[in-house]
Amino acid sequence: MEGDQIFVTQHWDIKYNHAAGETGSTFFKAIMDKKVILGKKCPKCKRILLPPRSFCERCFVETSEWVNVGKEGKIEAFTIVYEKFEGLPNPPYAIAYVLLDGASTAIANFVKGIDLKDINQALNHIKVGAKARVAFKRKREGRITDFWYEII
Ligand SMILES: [Zn+2]
Repeated sequence: MEGDQIFVTQHWDIKYNHAAGETGSTFFKAIMDKKVILGKKCPKCKRILLPPRSFCERCFVETSEWVNVGKEGKIEAFTIVYEKFEGLPNPPYAIAYVLLDGASTAIANFVKGIDLKDINQALNHIKVGAKARVAFKRKREGRITDFWYEII
């Protein structure tokens, strides 16, 4: 059966604008205007959700309280990418989920400041449990790419 498969090459190049919503807009404005990372607290389970969500996916209740989380945390998971993906930077680059101090859930972003050419060398620095800190772009635009992580 495998030999009968037909493979079709296609190209997706989709650009679209969408509203970030009330929660997303507050989150991005805080990053852009104040260099602050905000999570939202669930009134029931008390978790600080980051990225902030308008409701808690465990308790199914609305969140309303904004909490300023720390700018340092620990890597929970990461990947180092060596293949080109459309719409993403030229490889190599690293992306990590970091549990920022005070947050209950990790948020993903790029990790910069590490030489990634040699994966074995890179893995000496970027690892699960490694401490990382948030660094902000000088000219921020209200995007997730306004910040990235650096290994401490
Ligand atoms: Zn909850």
